[in-house]
Amino acid sequence: MTETPANPPPADPSTRPGVQNVAVLGATGSIGTATAEVLAHLNRVDDRYRWRLWAASGHHNVKGLTDLARDAARFGGPPERLVFSDPTVQSSLRNLEGPLQATEQRWGPEELVGAASHPEVDVVVAAIVGRAGLESTLAAVESGKRVALANKETLVVAGGLVQERSRATGAQLLPVDSEHSAIWQCIADSPNRVRRLILTASGGPFRTATAAQMEAATPETALAHPTWQMGRKISIDSATMMNKALEIIEARWLFDLPADQIEVVVHPQSIIHSMVEFEDGSVLAQLSPPDMRLPIQYALTHPRRLPCEAPPLQRNRRWDLSLEPVDLERFPALDLGFQVARVGGTAGAVVNAANEVAVGLFLNDQIRFTDIVTVCRKIMENHTFEERPTLSTLLRLDRWAREEATECAAGVG
Ligand code: NAD
Ligand code: MG
Repeated sequence: MTETPANPPPADPSTRPGVQNVAVLGATGSIGTATAEVLAHLNRVDDRYRWRLWAASGHHNVKGLTDLARDAARFGGPPERLVFSDPTVQSSLRNLEGPLQATEQRWGPEELVGAASHPEVDVVVAAIVGRAGLESTLAAVESGKRVALANKETLVVAGGLVQERSRATGAQLLPVDSEHSAIWQCIADSPNRVRRLILTASGGPFRTATAAQMEAATPETALAHPTWQMGRKISIDSATMMNKALEIIEARWLFDLPADQIEVVVHPQSIIHSMVEFEDGSVLAQLSPPDMRLPIQYALTHPRRLPCEAPPLQRNRRWDLSLEPVDLERFPALDLGFQVARVGGTAGAVVNAANEVAVGLFLNDQIRFTDIVTVCRKIMENHTFEERPTLSTLLRLDRWAREEATECAAGVG
């Protein structure tokens, strides 16, 4: 009889029983590059699947995407295709060589949809920022894929529609956002009724700032998040707490719970990623250091848990885990988020579009930090609400809200 070693070496990837073909949309961003790290890691530790980066997209960063994909051996072989969603990059594309010589290059936003719905793709990681991720995420849902969802804006804009379509096609929405991953992990397969979802918020860089300091905030101070390293748009959203507002709406759709069963508490250490209160008053929480590799990996391997490169919580040091109520006066985005989650319909699409425009204007020094939420509220109040919009209505309102927000911002700026 031979003995099995306690920690057998990882199996040779080429002999593993299965392959998971992954399309990472938004591969050059913060979540996209963390996902690439997770795929490379899974190829070392998972003895069930080879994790193949089948397709990867970037917007116009040709070098960034090509350099990332060149490490093909770590990603289960060379990608089938690289997608550049900005069609103007076509002229700067060169023939690929070395490990990428058989990799196709495609360009234009419709190619995101092509990759997301390709029959060979098993999992789509939706990591594009903003409403630009909507069509490809919807295409993945329409094709019944497993969708690891980081692009929360898709649910904010079209949550009702996305859920209706995933029920029809059998697509699975697997949360990547750390709060929603935490809730998903706490609920697990429990048949028990959830009383409340408690989203934690770090409070961002202005948690303890005065209203006057927030009015005078610069892009530089607003981008300096205390606990997370993220893309520019979500960093500003965290500073206004619009990110938490978007997450309230995201939670409303992902877990199919009304807004009055969702709460937000401030937790500056970003270790408790969220909590779930059950009918008996018991509260379950998920804890881990702030590192997106953990929720990304869990979305990919669910329900399996495998070793993860995110560092574990150290037990030999003191952890202060504090919870404090949110200051709704200094962070009016939260009230707006609850309002949108309550009414649904077209409200999310217009608030999201206004916010994308206002964040861009703030980053260009064209409006004040505190104007961002003011503009969003105005646009929401001025729009013609519809309860069950079609996709074309949502897209029309998205365009309308962008124009209105630009005009409104010119008035406040
Ligand atoms: P990022 O700015 O770092 O990356 C965005 C990606 O989207 C890049 O690959 C970029 O090329 C691509 N992109 C940008 N504009 C595009 C367009 N018009 N069309 C197609 N592709 C485009 O953003 P991020 O921080 O990685 O965030 C991505 C998404 O994940 C966002 O929805 C964000 O809210 C969500 N999210 C991020 C984090 C985080 O820690 N960064 C955590 C939770 C959720
Ligand atoms: Mg989050």
